[in-house]
Amino acid sequence: MGSVNTPSGSSSTSCPALRDAWAANTLEKAEALIKANSASSTGTAGLVMHNFVGGSYVPSENHIDSVNPKTGQVFAQVPVASADQVEQALQTATQAFKTWKKTTAAARSAYLRRVAQLIQDNHELFAVWESIDQGKTLARARVEVDRAISNFNYFSTFILHQSTSARMIDNVALTYEHRSPAGVFALISPWNMPLYLLTWKIAPCLAFGCTAVAKPSEVTSMSAFLLAEVLRLAEIPAGVINIVFGDGPTTGSALVRSPLVHGVSFTGGTATGIRIRRDTADQIYKHLSLELGGKNPTLVFDDVDLDKAVETAATAAFENQGEICLCGSRVYVQSGIYDEFVSRFEKFVRDNFKCGERVGAVVSSPHYAKIRSYLELAEQEKATFVTGSIPPADPKNGLWIDPVVLTGVSTKSAVMREEIFGPVVTIAKFDTEEEAIELANDNPNGLAAVLLTKDAARIRRVGEQIEAGLVWVNCWLVRELGTPFGGMKNSGTGREGGEYSREVFTVVRTLHIPM
Ligand code: NAD
Repeated sequence: MGSVNTPSGSSSTSCPALRDAWAANTLEKAEALIKANSASSTGTAGLVMHNFVGGSYVPSENHIDSVNPKTGQVFAQVPVASADQVEQALQTATQAFKTWKKTTAAARSAYLRRVAQLIQDNHELFAVWESIDQGKTLARARVEVDRAISNFNYFSTFILHQSTSARMIDNVALTYEHRSPAGVFALISPWNMPLYLLTWKIAPCLAFGCTAVAKPSEVTSMSAFLLAEVLRLAEIPAGVINIVFGDGPTTGSALVRSPLVHGVSFTGGTATGIRIRRDTADQIYKHLSLELGGKNPTLVFDDVDLDKAVETAATAAFENQGEICLCGSRVYVQSGIYDEFVSRFEKFVRDNFKCGERVGAVVSSPHYAKIRSYLELAEQEKATFVTGSIPPADPKNGLWIDPVVLTGVSTKSAVMREEIFGPVVTIAKFDTEEEAIELANDNPNGLAAVLLTKDAARIRRVGEQIEAGLVWVNCWLVRELGTPFGGMKNSGTGREGGEYSREVFTVVRTLHIPM
């Protein structure tokens, strides 16, 4: 396959929104398209996305508005796939599984490389629409497109180097483990890193020989819509990956409950994860991988290089306007350097995290209102706003919230305990290592943590006691795709990445061969 970068054939031309969006592969062109659509006689309907089932674009009757958070304008319509449409997509995936599961690892690897190449060929197209849809900066969106490409490249080679275990029972039998694809998957993703997180599921699903019906968040569906075209251009056999759009109660729920689904790989909020577990409780055969919310601590000890620590802690707090599940939103600083840290942190944030530059708009009006409600609570509880303030209740020109740094927040406050998932960070003090560990672990979540110290012995002493699936020492967001990704406590169950993804997407049987 060459570097095809235009959609062709009846399948894509049957969906005008795809044709139009695909041609708008720069920010200028995309903005012009949105403007032209909003001025047209069809009103503000904008781009009407379609589901992607069996290699074709299929419309739905009902739609949800998709809003550009930076302007507050509706620019697209997201289909809400009905329960019947979900069932049809699952039947298509079930049919496709019969042949896809028999393909060789080498063949699947080649497909994954084609997908990676096609995203690479259309890099700016994906970055531009992701930025418009999610509110993130274009620079941040470009990084996430790179990461989506890495997801496919990583699993394309991972599956070429598989091994298995064999055991002997003396003079009795040889036993060995044999893996096969687990079946049809429901792949469900959230709105904060739409393309990156959906491809983190689609890539291993394809690689390990499974088929799927994927559902992105109804809040940010645009990059999944474009990805459908990439899958078609890569000639992934029809029905292997289907993408349906819609909300949780209608589309997501029908998807996870269907008996045709053998596994659910879900990333999203803890409440939804609990719901999915309940909804599938009597379908014991289903593999469940639940990657859920976080309220992650950053511990700053008094031996650090202060400027470096400030930069790492601020980046961990405010990257993607705090809308990354791994963001460090509770900063704890050792008392000897506390005042100096807070003062430098405030300056660094003011200088480096400006709305419209490094900080994007928050994703939606309900999310804006949620973040705002926590800031009102902080004010009622007499927290100090070191920088930032409560944004207006009725924003006129997009959903912008300047970074907020709070001190004086009680450990019992919801502001300190619950995931706000926006540009809000609390800073508090500790004296001893024991206290630091206690504060870090004083939360129902356990996704990630940042540990800032130069003391090599402390790195292990403290790091190995933090209740989090990922602990970053003097760094943040460094990822190797074979490492187990996932959280402890309420942050989820199961791990994904490399051989951990193999656990999710395959089943193992042991063969016993007598002597
Ligand atoms: P959400 O739980 O509201 O929605 C996530 C997805 O689940 C969406 O596609 C939604 O439509 C779907 N959904 C909702 N109800 C459903 C149901 N009953 N059955 C099936 N699907 C359903 O989460 P969100 O608001 O989109 O995302 C934010 C959350 O995601 C935060 O808590 C964040 O920490 C978390 N997150 C976690 C990770 C991780 O790797 N652990 C990564 C990114 C985001």
